Amino acid sequence: MAVKIRNIKKLQFLRSIKIYIFLIVFIVGLISCNVMRHAILQDYEQRAVSLRISDVQAQLNILANHLITYRYLQDTSSQVINAELSLLSNLYDGRVLIINNDLKVVKDTYGISEGKIFISEEVIRCFKGSNTSQYDSENGYIEMTIPIMEVMEETDTFPEQTSIARGVMLTSVSTDYIAQTMEILNRKAVVLEIIVIMAIFAVSVLASYVLVRPFGKITDALSQVKEGYTSDPINVPDCLETENIGEAFNQVLGRMKVLDDSRREFVSNVSHELKTPITSIKVLADSLRGQENVPIELYQEFMEDIAAEIDRENEIINNLLTLSRMDRTAVDLNIDQVDVNMLVELIMKRLSAIAIKKDVELVYESIRPVVAEIDEVKISLVITNLIENAIKYNKEHGWVKVTLDADHQFFTIEVADSGIGIPRESIEHIYERFYRVDKSHSREVEGTGLGLAITRSAILMHRGSIKAESEEGEGTTFTVKIPLTYISVS
Ligand code: ADP
Repeated sequence: MAVKIRNIKKLQFLRSIKIYIFLIVFIVGLISCNVMRHAILQDYEQRAVSLRISDVQAQLNILANHLITYRYLQDTSSQVINAELSLLSNLYDGRVLIINNDLKVVKDTYGISEGKIFISEEVIRCFKGSNTSQYDSENGYIEMTIPIMEVMEETDTFPEQTSIARGVMLTSVSTDYIAQTMEILNRKAVVLEIIVIMAIFAVSVLASYVLVRPFGKITDALSQVKEGYTSDPINVPDCLETENIGEAFNQVLGRMKVLDDSRREFVSNVSHELKTPITSIKVLADSLRGQENVPIELYQEFMEDIAAEIDRENEIINNLLTLSRMDRTAVDLNIDQVDVNMLVELIMKRLSAIAIKKDVELVYESIRPVVAEIDEVKISLVITNLIENAIKYNKEHGWVKVTLDADHQFFTIEVADSGIGIPRESIEHIYERFYRVDKSHSREVEGTGLGLAITRSAILMHRGSIKAESEEGEGTTFTVKIPLTYISVS
């Protein structure tokens, strides 16, 4: 098992981007080098062959004229022509066959085929007046045919000058020297190629190191942040990609810092809020203990205060528990078809006692019947919190108006009050945990500062929204919008 793991670790380097860059640069370099060498050699071969063909053809054309002049096709004893022929075959290291129009070989510089009949496609084509040439690279020769043309005198029947093919010259010339030159060229090219390949190897290794180095820097910087040596933003401007990675990571770090700060603040708020009632209880209890012969009325009064502080502590703990439950996923939602009109009416009936006590008028306007897929308990909490706040932060003889409406997608609950209002700068903070607009003033009104945080969480779980509009001293309107059909997260 251990050996297997070691082997896997050994092979890990094969997955490195360095190896990929090296292989790509090296293989591309290798292939292009090879292709270039072959292309150059091939080009040279083609040029050399076509040069030789045109060279030999020019010589053969001159010779063909001489053959006619010396009537060589009829009589091959001409010393001049024979000397020319042997010079030509020596010069080009080849063989020349002269064929007359009976397809009989009248001269063969090798002396093998004289007197024989020679029929081939090229010869027949040549009699029709066209030169042919063919390169056989495997056996190393070029075969050519040239017609031996005789120019006819103008006659009355043929007023224009004409030429007639009297015979054909079939020549094969060796291309050994081309092959030899190519061999030498190839050897030189291979040496050059090896040098270039070595250079490409060095460039590939360098490229793979240079291109991957910025990623190494990013990894180092991330490790330093991970180990806690630094909290500086990551900045690797070597290339666009690393710069982007750095920026994205800095954003994640920023968000984590915000989350960490808010967690810290929340813990300190919780500790403070939980400590306040306990401190009051301790002060009340100590003052009772410190006095002798305390009248029973004072005992009762202090005990009532202690009970109120315990209730407050209890409320904070319950609210915190509700909030922490809300923080979990929407899986905890208990979705049902609920008659929202009935729900609002029920809540308003329950809260009417507090409203009467505070001398606040409660008004309900239902624009249309609304049935929606919601978690009844959580939405009850939302409506209760909003109406409770509207009553709590109201003025004497004030009013609270609740309106329920819907379109084809959402239902809307509007809770408007004629209360003290919320200052403009506080509106964006009212959903924060433990936030209370005016802490000293709010002491008069009971509350934990957790109600709107819970309300907002419950609304977001239903994929809804909440908006507050307020005018200080005039009143506040909260508008909640929730989809009629529950949209699951998955
Ligand atoms: P609390 O328990 O203090 O009511 P909430 O989270 O419900 O906590 O509200 C946060 C703060 O927002 C309140 O302390 C209050 O200052 C302000 N607030 C909420 N609703 C209203 C309202 N209808 N009118 C005026 N101020 C409000």
